[in-house]
Amino acid sequence: MYSNSLTELDRAHLIHPVASYRSHEKHGVRVLASAKGATVTDASGKQLIDGFAGLWCVNAGYGHESIVEAAARQMRELPYATAYFGLGSEPAIRLAGELADRAPGDLNHVYFTLGGSDAIDTTIRFIRYYWNARGRPERDQFISVEQGYHGSSTVGAGLTALPAFHAGFGLPFDWQHKIPSHYAYRNPVGDDPQAIIDASLAALKSKVETIGPERVAAFYAEPIQGSGGVLVPPKGWVKAMREFCREHDILFVADEVITGFGRTGPLFACSEEGIVPDLLTTAKGLTSGYVPMGAVLMSDHVYETIAEGAGAAAVGHGYTYSAHPVSAAVGLEVLKLYESGLLDNGVRAGARLMEGLEGLRDHPLVGDVRGRGMLAAVELVVDKVNKTPLPASAEPARRIFDRAWENGLIIRAFGNGVLGYAPPLCCTETEIDAIVERTRMTLDETL
Ligand code: PLP
Repeated sequence: MYSNSLTELDRAHLIHPVASYRSHEKHGVRVLASAKGATVTDASGKQLIDGFAGLWCVNAGYGHESIVEAAARQMRELPYATAYFGLGSEPAIRLAGELADRAPGDLNHVYFTLGGSDAIDTTIRFIRYYWNARGRPERDQFISVEQGYHGSSTVGAGLTALPAFHAGFGLPFDWQHKIPSHYAYRNPVGDDPQAIIDASLAALKSKVETIGPERVAAFYAEPIQGSGGVLVPPKGWVKAMREFCREHDILFVADEVITGFGRTGPLFACSEEGIVPDLLTTAKGLTSGYVPMGAVLMSDHVYETIAEGAGAAAVGHGYTYSAHPVSAAVGLEVLKLYESGLLDNGVRAGARLMEGLEGLRDHPLVGDVRGRGMLAAVELVVDKVNKTPLPASAEPARRIFDRAWENGLIIRAFGNGVLGYAPPLCCTETEIDAIVERTRMTLDETL
């Protein structure tokens, strides 16, 4: 289908992230060539609706000339400016201001990174700095949630609770602890929202007691767990966890790498729960995937504690590409697009998507449908009554992905039989309906 030379070159030289190298060598690469709106075109000319916005990141959709222009203008004027030595660039400073203006509460301080994993790493380093500055160096233990994903950096992967990110690496994560997920469809306490919140609170309390309350530095949670299979907590869960952390002097970090920038409706999902985390991480939709960028938003008290603790000394954390002016220029333009109609369209399209996917519940393979806004999942089962999952191997997922592809749809097929959806916010009603129809067609062919 593709030029042999490209396939062979890929096989010989390009290492793909989170892939079985042997399986990839066998199946080969699918080359994407161009894209516009919510449609991507592969190297053979086949057009597909991108139901996953790349990797849950192209929230604005593809091919916005104004974003290209913003990047080109910045590249012409000043393609690079370090933020070291007290220097800076206008777009980075402006974007920090715009984010602080829109972020919940007093998240007034912005540290730009290159993506989500290094944003998570940055929080871990700042949190250690914070507790040292408060004279509490023993607060060095971190808690996150099973099925959570917080990137794959050497340190941050410790917070990630998906086995594939630990297996085979042999890295020590003994500073890292997990509580069970709120996963309503398969929760031992059932699906009653209050019972799930109570169970999570009890688990967190018990974990803190086991570790020793004086040892716990921070608790990390995604407002909706993404890579774990789009697991939506009951309303009030995030708030309850946040309040527990406040009462126990534990820093609360909201990882909004996926949920930020309209994915669930507003710019930040935390605002839907009316909470203000101590730190917030984001990436992906920040630049809509056009160029790499992530950010850590820090509350006043965390910033002040670190600043006071450091005094005249430098806080030794930085990247050559921190606050990159081209990424920031793209971020500013993307923000403008979100606020001139894209967020609103995402809310409308998200409601239609959820309604459409709910309509698949009658399908014999569909055990659960869940999501919020333009972030959704359909969980496939072998048997609905017993909720028997599909065989835990990559093959069924690959077959479903391949079938969907043939039907002109890109979705995420997780290994556990969960289909993930995160379409661009620009989707039309027709495109949303096509996503649902093509899913049904794919499921029928999978039976
Ligand atoms: N945190 C969450 C919640 C994510 O979903 C991801 C990536 O999917 C990351 C962190 C890591 O971000 P990145 O892949 O940009 O390093």
